[in-house]
Amino acid sequence: MTHPAQPIASHFINGEYVEDAAGTPIPVIYAYTGEQIATVHAATPAIVDAALASAEAGQKIWAKMSGTERGRVLRRAADILRERNHDLSVLETYDTGKPLQETLVADATSGADALEYFGGLAGSLTGEHIPMGEDWVYTVREALGVCVGIGAWNYPTQIACWKGAPALACGNSMVFKPSETTPLCALKVAEILHEAGLPAGVYNVIQGMGEVGGALVTDPRVAKVSLTGSVPTGRKVYAAAAADMKHVTMELGGKSPMIVFDDADIDNAVGGAINGNFYSSGQVCSNGTRVFVQKGIKEKFLARLAERTGNAVLGDPMDEATSFGPMVTENQMNIVLGYVEKGKAEGARLICGGKRADRDGFFVEPTVFADVTDDMTIAREEIFGPVMSVLDFDTEEEVVARANDTEFGLSAGVFTKDFTRAHRVIGNLEAGSCFINSYNDAPVEAPFGGVKASGVGRENSKEAIKHFSQVKSVYVRMGDVEAAF
Ligand code: NDP
Repeated sequence: MTHPAQPIASHFINGEYVEDAAGTPIPVIYAYTGEQIATVHAATPAIVDAALASAEAGQKIWAKMSGTERGRVLRRAADILRERNHDLSVLETYDTGKPLQETLVADATSGADALEYFGGLAGSLTGEHIPMGEDWVYTVREALGVCVGIGAWNYPTQIACWKGAPALACGNSMVFKPSETTPLCALKVAEILHEAGLPAGVYNVIQGMGEVGGALVTDPRVAKVSLTGSVPTGRKVYAAAAADMKHVTMELGGKSPMIVFDDADIDNAVGGAINGNFYSSGQVCSNGTRVFVQKGIKEKFLARLAERTGNAVLGDPMDEATSFGPMVTENQMNIVLGYVEKGKAEGARLICGGKRADRDGFFVEPTVFADVTDDMTIAREEIFGPVMSVLDFDTEEEVVARANDTEFGLSAGVFTKDFTRAHRVIGNLEAGSCFINSYNDAPVEAPFGGVKASGVGRENSKEAIKHFSQVKSVYVRMGDVEAAF
């Protein structure tokens, strides 16, 4: 019998599901059981071409509609996502292995927030009137055209919406390529958008590996590329897009610092460290994986952290009591276990976890290392799994310098009761998305993105509008033209 996760077809183009079985089969594996639950096919060159052609035609119709009309479609889609949250969350759990306890509140709901927020903004995207004496200039905020979205595997529904919603609000169309690891959820987003009244061709989804992404990025019909992925992929995609001066948004990886001063509320800081390391089994780009703890409270912090980490419930992701799921794939599990072994070999002190869980599924136990030093591999490289490094520090000046000593700059957090210090430290940290006495909140109203190697551009908030539109300025002369001859 066909598994309920099996989509109708691999791609969604020009308002309908499309199959081309000539494309390489991509098995979809449920991370909890290791069972193959679905198969999709990578896009052939004909599918890539059809998606781009439909996006090009659809964009012309969509851009002519008023912002209010476009916004209405997005807001209707948000309502449908919310109505179907339970089923969409189950699908997200099949796609990623993340526990239903999380997907019910963080995936389709976050996608719906983006559609609602940008749907609300769509009618108010106006230009300026700039008086120049008796002359004047006016500006128009125009769509870019066909945009490409390329997603990572940790938040397939959310990424499809975080890219699609601002792109569409501005009058662009999109061809979205999910990660080959999690191909299912973006198809539902496309289906729901069209059910909500989107003209055919405005939001298309095609499957495939890196080469399909590469074909999209280099196509001359594409005006903009928005990628969520790793830094090495970001470098390649950014370079390929640059050849044609395409716009880019790059949401890449991180090795973010979370700094806990000795006056912090210990339980809140421990809660922040747990949210910033173990949610989605650590597969979150903005995670605060370098937890700097001031020496005076170190042992107290570690004891409370170990105690609370022991409360994680590993189990069937579909059971709402489960609070910690498997890694997305066996390969990712092995990568993470490799880092755990490096941590042990390089002399970090294992506080808890440190191995594959003794059960079915690709589970890595929530792992905490203490006495981590700045030069250890686990303190330098992004692991993308449930491995927290706790480092000690003495002074503010020292910890800020050490926190900034990385190529990444996605996020940073500070826990302290001294608000002057909190703002001063955040002001000195090289990171795009920061937190004070909290960690990993990502509301659609707040800009999200990194500095340094963690990326360029911002998702969410009014900032995203700037990255999915361009400004035309028009000088209007009211009098005669003066010329030299
Ligand atoms: P990858 O960088 O491996 O892949 C990201 C996407 O790019 C995938 O869809 C991939 O396809 C595609 N891709 C790969 N090569 C190319 C290419 N040459 N041209 C075009 N597209 C290509 O990342 P993962 O999927 O492994 O995701 C994990 C990474 O994503 C982590 O490093 C994490 O930090 C980052 N991330 C960043 C976030 C942010 O907002 N800053 C959020 C979430 C994750 P395929 O994999 O199918 O081959």
